[in-house]
Amino acid sequence: MPGNPFHLILGKNWLLILVSFFCIVTVFTVANFSSPIRPNHTVVQDVEHLVDTKKHHSILDILSNTDNIWQQLSQNRASLGMSDELHWFRFTLRNTESVQSRLLEVDNSLLDSINIWFVQDNKILAEYIAGDTLTFSQRTVEHENFLFPVPTTGQSLEVYITSHSEGAMRLPLNIWQQKDYLAFTSKSNLIEGMFFGLMLAMGLSNLLFFITTRTPTFLVYSGYVIFLALTLSALQGLGYRYIWPNSPWLQQHAVGIFANLTVWLSIIFCDLLLNVRAYSKRLSKILNVTGYTFLVSLIISLFIPLQVFIVVFLLMLSASGIFIFATSIWLWINGLAIARYYTLAWAVLFISGFTVSLDTLNILNFKLPSYYLLMLGAGIETLFLAFILAISHNQQRQALQEYQEELLNKERQVQHAQKDMLALQENATEELEYKVQERTLELEIALRELSDINRELQEKNTLDALTGIRNRSYFDKKYQAEVRRSRREHTQLSVVMMDIDHFKNVNDQYGHLVGDECIKSVARTLKKALKRPSDDVCRYGGEEFALILPSTDLEGALVLTESLRAQIENTNVQAEGVSINITISAGIGTAIAGLNQSEDILLALADKQLYAAKNAGRNNVQGSHLNDIQQQD
Ligand code: GH3
Ligand code: MG
Ligand code: MG
Repeated sequence: MPGNPFHLILGKNWLLILVSFFCIVTVFTVANFSSPIRPNHTVVQDVEHLVDTKKHHSILDILSNTDNIWQQLSQNRASLGMSDELHWFRFTLRNTESVQSRLLEVDNSLLDSINIWFVQDNKILAEYIAGDTLTFSQRTVEHENFLFPVPTTGQSLEVYITSHSEGAMRLPLNIWQQKDYLAFTSKSNLIEGMFFGLMLAMGLSNLLFFITTRTPTFLVYSGYVIFLALTLSALQGLGYRYIWPNSPWLQQHAVGIFANLTVWLSIIFCDLLLNVRAYSKRLSKILNVTGYTFLVSLIISLFIPLQVFIVVFLLMLSASGIFIFATSIWLWINGLAIARYYTLAWAVLFISGFTVSLDTLNILNFKLPSYYLLMLGAGIETLFLAFILAISHNQQRQALQEYQEELLNKERQVQHAQKDMLALQENATEELEYKVQERTLELEIALRELSDINRELQEKNTLDALTGIRNRSYFDKKYQAEVRRSRREHTQLSVVMMDIDHFKNVNDQYGHLVGDECIKSVARTLKKALKRPSDDVCRYGGEEFALILPSTDLEGALVLTESLRAQIENTNVQAEGVSINITISAGIGTAIAGLNQSEDILLALADKQLYAAKNAGRNNVQGSHLNDIQQQD
């Protein structure tokens, strides 16, 4: 949504702004609440203190002892740090004009045992026993804090208290008017209700997120929030009051169990949320090991005194807290965007924890009770982490969506490419086919042209350049073919050899050009005269011509040749301005070709007859049948 103006202005820092706003509002609200939170109560001052190292005093011993064994408590709050010794406290409760009933509050819900005596003139008016070792229903006043009704006598009272506790030895003592305490309780209940309601809501909603998304981070966060709430409820006594009122054992170990589980889960949460594994496998491993040490610490806490456990736990907590804080900052520097929010969330918890520590150690003194500070810190931290979790989950979902989209796009691209390739292939095939066809056609045309040319060439090869009639090579083939046919079909074949008479003289007298014209003229005459398609006239050489006359007997051949001789004799040849008459002599050979004869025999016969014609005076025709000659022989 880059177009969203709200988004543009705030960018990625909208969460920071939102949470900061929330913190400011909360701080103001609590600050306004805090002044009337604990109104009109008197903090008991001038407490005298006695450490009963050997634990052999009873209240009667104490009352009868007149020696000055008491010491003034230097601090304005009864807090003696960690101790498992028996502590005695004494103070005087002055009479007030008010006849209203009053309450003595011991503001530490983790005390194991506490005894209280109200004494007037060395006489015990009232005696109460309380502490975590009793079930909740055994308390005098059923409240998460230890409350004791002050006897109304109209005179001053001495109050004696013994406490033996394995926890932090804090003994803040307050005197309340009952009606003020009622008002205070209702207000603090509201704040506590709001806080635990918030924690429960966050815990349950994230549990539901886990069920719907199956993302383990939600489950870990949910567990973390629930156990954090249980830890705080244990610290404030609310857990004992509402959740496990019949289990003093759990009340004594609740802090150990829940605090360890809280820290363990918060470390696992850090590992999962910041995806530390992706940045450094070793760091992730160290984080997990740190987490498991808190599980070990949980088991140990069941067997060691609370005071020892708390010291060890706080040390471990500080160390691992600093470690997580450093990890978070390191990831922030390494470019993990949510790490800076996480760092901020830890900073909030650190500040609140640090403030509570200062308050507990009496270095700082807040008007606001320390557990409110703790609740405030925890509440802000919880919300903060929930926001970060939501952002992280959203980012992961978006990244997944983007990844899926990218994958889909890639798939589409591949499909497109495949389609294109297929189309290209089809086109190519079509084109190829077309081209092949085209080429084939071209080739066919070329072949046809070639064969035409070839035929033409062959034709040309068989023609005589000067006269345009068939040449000698054609004659040789034709002669051979006709001889064979004659042999096969037993038909008469006549061959005529012709020679122009005294042609040398023509050349000598008129020149070669005229001679050529004469040759052409004879050729024309011969060609014109032959009527049968099977008859052929060829130029045999210089001024010699040969006729092939298939299926023609000697008589027919003599008639035809005689007619030819006569036509030539009567033809005037016009050339170069001269007119000349030429004559020819011709010899005919006729035969039915025989099996055992040389193919050339007929030709030789015709030649012989030509020779005879020349000898007989030229311009005449001589013919002979082969049979006649053989008979003569
Ligand atoms: P004959 O009567 O005995 O045949 O006498 P002839 O002069 O014709 O003698 P022959 O056949 O020996 O001579 C042929 C002459 O024909 C020789 C040559 O000069 C001439 N001749 C041959 N071929 C050609 C040609 O193509 N053109 C021309 N102009 N003359 C040719
Ligand atoms: Mg000749
Ligand atoms: Mg001649």
